[in-house]
Amino acid sequence: MITVSDVKQYLYCPRIIYFDHVLHVPKPTDPKLLTGKDLHDTITAKEKRRKGALFYDQELDRAKKMFRVALESSSLGLRGVLDYLVETDREFIPIDYKFGSSHNGAVFLNHKYQLAAYALLVEDSFRTIVRRGFVHYSKDRINVRVDMGDELPRRTLKMIREVGKIIEEEMEPAGTKNPGRCTDCEYSRYCIGYQSED
Ligand code: SF4
Repeated sequence: MITVSDVKQYLYCPRIIYFDHVLHVPKPTDPKLLTGKDLHDTITAKEKRRKGALFYDQELDRAKKMFRVALESSSLGLRGVLDYLVETDREFIPIDYKFGSSHNGAVFLNHKYQLAAYALLVEDSFRTIVRRGFVHYSKDRINVRVDMGDELPRRTLKMIREVGKIIEEEMEPAGTKNPGRCTDCEYSRYCIGYQSED
């Protein structure tokens, strides 16, 4: 079973899946994760105190708010812990927290697919159709709406299958074509596909 974070990593670079799940290369502790946990707790505490949910909307006044929702689907072969799930009379709305800035007011591509993967898990767990979700960027304090439509879930499912295939067949995929990503990559010292920006 893969995780929603794997979907995000796959989009960053498919080779990371190979290092993590096939070679089991140990990951160095990411100090950002610890900071992220504190920020997560702060945002959650604020959100629990809020009258409605996420932003002002009459419909959200009576919404049920669920935090750190553990989701798992054997049919999708996917699991993950969703930061925040809002349930209204009409719909379920998944929300993912990010502790950086948005992409000039828009959602980053990998965050969009990560949210779509959570939406698939919510659909499977609650027998519902998710129409929209939000990514909350804490640095610029905005909630960016993502409409699911048909294409986004379809592409996300394809990606989940591709991640599963790398693991099952132990295949080493090509790395990213973006050298900037290699510079920040925690696996760069093991990777023959490492691309220097020089
Ligand atoms: S160093 Fe570059 S190619 Fe290698 S895993 Fe990291 S991002 Fe991918």
